[in-house]
Amino acid sequence: DDAGRRTGMIPIPPETLARALAEFARIVGADNVWSGDTARTSYADAMAPRDPASYAPDAAVAPASTDEVQAIVRVAAELGVPLWPISRGKNFGYGGAAPHIPNVVMLDMVRMNRILECNVEMGYVVVEPGVSFDDLYHYLVDNDIPLWMSAPAHTWGSVLGNALERGVGYTPYGEHASKVCGMEVVTADGSLLRTGMGAMAGSQTWHGFPYGYGPSWDPAFMQSNFGVVTRMGLWLMPRPAQTLNLAMKLDRVEDLSPAIDVLRPLKLDGTVQANPSLGNVIRSLATRGPRSALWQGSGPMPADVLDAARQQAGVGHWNFGIRLFGDPDVNAINARKVRAAFAGKVQAEFEESEWTGGDLRGSGHPTPTLAALGVVDWLGGPGGHLTFSPVSAFSGAEAWKQYTLVRGMYEEAGFDYYGGFTAGQRYLNHITMILFNRNDQDMCDRANSLFTRLIEVGAQNGWGEYRTHTLFYDEVARSYDYNNGAMRRWNERVKDAVDPQGIIAPGKMGIWPRRYREAGE
Ligand code: ADP
Repeated sequence: DDAGRRTGMIPIPPETLARALAEFARIVGADNVWSGDTARTSYADAMAPRDPASYAPDAAVAPASTDEVQAIVRVAAELGVPLWPISRGKNFGYGGAAPHIPNVVMLDMVRMNRILECNVEMGYVVVEPGVSFDDLYHYLVDNDIPLWMSAPAHTWGSVLGNALERGVGYTPYGEHASKVCGMEVVTADGSLLRTGMGAMAGSQTWHGFPYGYGPSWDPAFMQSNFGVVTRMGLWLMPRPAQTLNLAMKLDRVEDLSPAIDVLRPLKLDGTVQANPSLGNVIRSLATRGPRSALWQGSGPMPADVLDAARQQAGVGHWNFGIRLFGDPDVNAINARKVRAAFAGKVQAEFEESEWTGGDLRGSGHPTPTLAALGVVDWLGGPGGHLTFSPVSAFSGAEAWKQYTLVRGMYEEAGFDYYGGFTAGQRYLNHITMILFNRNDQDMCDRANSLFTRLIEVGAQNGWGEYRTHTLFYDEVARSYDYNNGAMRRWNERVKDAVDPQGIIAPGKMGIWPRRYREAGE
């Protein structure tokens, strides 16, 4: 069934491309269309362990409005030119701005960067694809709007793009996909639709009631290639009066298991509403600088060296904070519950700190930062990383099993295990990163083959990735194999119905449209 489906190789004939680019220039102006080396290099994933030239796009076009997106898609559909939509292209660790395949035209929506609405009373914003977390931060903070946002580790990327990929943050609204409410979507024929209540012209509840009438489509436009999302409603959290952080360092590596089992009921009953993230020692050390400052050997850091470095840096084998957001009285009660639950279960104490207004650093509200990207230079630069992120059951035993197996595979391949478990309400996101030096071809090869093995071994254990790198879309899609890949075949039936030519992101998440499947046979 899979043989030949990953073709990705339907070249755009030069005269077709030239015609498309001329049409695009008419729509967006020649300054916003790129081809040749500019396009090929500008969208390269600078952090991947593969030669970016092997999957570079042919061209790029940057619209400024939904109307322009529609016009571009219509031209693309008429000429059979596949587009690869991106919002800001800062999807680092999962592919950056790069497409999955060559022979596409990037649909770069970075110029569509308006915050279209901020409804303080109802607690939501409506954003275009190009709005970054930094933009939203400044909009909220500079205007003293009493709403808080959630962001992933760095704030360069798109609010909309990250929610579409189901990114996670660390406030009570950290499960971004679940806070999306109402989208505007351009479909593969260039027509326009609004999801949920937005399907009714004049509705007042587009960004309040997420479901609408009939099937709900917001989730179907996430991690998919069924449409181009040109605006999105996103719920924001009312600014809390206080945040109270309970920080813990676990000096015993095996305390991961009990910590997770203690956390589960606290997440389940809502005592802890944010998503605590238990990060390992390498995750802490890598934020402080390259490994060469600690050790000059090759392969994974030996346990005794790591332990000495850990103690010198004053970090645990696992480090995390349980942050409570809200009214001080309520936080105080919940903090007591958290302390009581952990007492005697792990060998560590909480360190408490509170925020009650003013400077947002240390509050739990994200502040503009790129610091998280520095860790990629752990093994020297230019650094790269690949993020392997299986979902784990919310159980100490399961997390431990996943941790030991994944860590063992990292070390066998010669890498340090960099990882952590971010707690959802009923699951854990086990987010691990292979850090490598991109100038070192042997390291790149080992990173690629380790990733493939991680997907396979994960699947043998029933672990699926929550998201993956563009380079591995097909492998991960194949690992979702229940009933001979029934879900994947369903996705492709939908794709064939809405976009059989593959005008929008052919092959994204391993969903190939008919034209590409047939070309592969
Ligand atoms: P970010 O800048 O937040 O990291 P990206 O722009 O890199 O997000 O988007 C990540 C991926 O999500 C893209 O490769 C693309 O597959 C998909 N995507 C992003 N924006 C859109 C959109 N507006 N419509 C459809 N798919 C999108």
